Amino acid sequence: MGYGPLKKGEPGQLIIDPDASLSALQHEKSHFLEAQSKGFPSAAEAYQDWEGRIADEFKSYTIEIEEAKKLGLDNVAEQLQKNFKVEKQYIIDRYGPID
Ligand SMILES: [Zn+2]
Repeated sequence: MGYGPLKKGEPGQLIIDPDASLSALQHEKSHFLEAQSKGFPSAAEAYQDWEGRIADEFKSYTIEIEEAKKLGLDNVAEQLQKNFKVEKQYIIDRYGPID
């Protein structure tokens, strides 16, 4: 699952798992809408903006976490919070500043 930017100014690509949950689809939709609101940055621009990516992931995971909580799926909400932390760390390690 994922939304990936392609060419600047053009919509990117959504990779969808046929067994994905509705909240996972909402997560990816959120990435698409965020990219659209920024005029569809190129892949290079999108990946270099590591702080923007973390903010996007926070927004997308929050949608999923709220949905899980609404359904009383606290274990799912907890897992999603862990997933966000792992993804945030991945972005920092791979694209963040070098100290
Ligand atoms: Zn995401």
